[in-house]
Amino acid sequence: MKITAALSGRGGDSPELVAMEQEEPRAGEMRIRLVATGICHTDLHEHPGRHSPQPIVLGHEGAGVVEKLGEGVTGFDVGDHVILSGNSCGKCPSCLANRPTYCDLAMPLCFGGQRMDGSTALCCGEEKVHSHFFGQSSFATHSIVPQRTAVKMDKDLPLEKLGPLGCGVITGAGGVIEALKVGFGDTIAIFGTGGVGLSAVMAAKLVGAKRVIAVDLSAERLELARELGATDCFKGDEEDLAVRIRAVTGRGVDFTFNTTNAQKVHTLALEVLAMNGTAGFVAAPLPGPEGPWAPQMFAMLAGGKQLRGILGGDAYPTTFLPQIAEYWRQGKFPFDRMLSFYPFAEIDRAFADARSGKAIKPVLLMENAQ
Ligand SMILES: [Zn+2]
Ligand SMILES: [Zn+2]
Repeated sequence: MKITAALSGRGGDSPELVAMEQEEPRAGEMRIRLVATGICHTDLHEHPGRHSPQPIVLGHEGAGVVEKLGEGVTGFDVGDHVILSGNSCGKCPSCLANRPTYCDLAMPLCFGGQRMDGSTALCCGEEKVHSHFFGQSSFATHSIVPQRTAVKMDKDLPLEKLGPLGCGVITGAGGVIEALKVGFGDTIAIFGTGGVGLSAVMAAKLVGAKRVIAVDLSAERLELARELGATDCFKGDEEDLAVRIRAVTGRGVDFTFNTTNAQKVHTLALEVLAMNGTAGFVAAPLPGPEGPWAPQMFAMLAGGKQLRGILGGDAYPTTFLPQIAEYWRQGKFPFDRMLSFYPFAEIDRAFADARSGKAIKPVLLMENAQ
């Protein structure tokens, strides 16, 4: 079938819209007509080529309608509304424990750019185009997805808004609720108030955290963080930040959730923890001029502190995403406050706005793209 997709791997600052051929869904796969897809920082990092082979169609926050079922697909019907999340094998211990982001095959299934047998769903003339990015490659009018990538959603929900639930929102909200298990009366400091950090703020409010501290360099984003539930906001470049954050509770916070890759923020996130606190992080610290980041191990030992990597919020999308949507319906999780919409054809502008921070969470609208 002829589709339009945004191709990475031909240079340029953003993917380029190209007409290409997409094969029919194979056994266990479905064809999804995409309605919208969010842009996540992982797409920005992968565009020039990092983990995945090129040329490739990126995109991993898709939302759309099931158009065709491959052989053996169960639990979905043509016309179902779905969010696309990550791909996983369904058989390893992590998958069986409903922790699919820690699937033994997560890297090849999400970043391999092809099926496990080496085939791809896309080609451009004679040229093979890599597909199946996070099991979806959703910068396209249509995707071929393994059924494990899809989560069925109620049809009365606004499909054009739902894509970011599949990565950015689940990473932040799941991080707070499922991974750190923040609860009533707890205190948390959240570093970085992009889509992931703001989702963490909303989740911390939702579960009844007593103090929700947001830290960012942007005053505008901190204002939104406050509207979404932050009780205390700090500019990231304030003097004596660690002392000020610790002073909010008088003894530091029970949890930190770090969405940045800056070494000094990783250091700060450990420093502001109270005794027995846990520092969760979703991005690895970049190596600095002095080499790789090293945590203060003695302080961790003396304070019984933990450092905890979190992927996809530890959450099980099949149950977690419909729950978040229900909280949205009740007005308790207004994730749509973070979204900015762009026609698919303006993916270059959406990429630029994601990079500059002008848009917190850009969402491409696919309709009328062909
Ligand atoms: Zn992502
Ligand atoms: Zn698995």
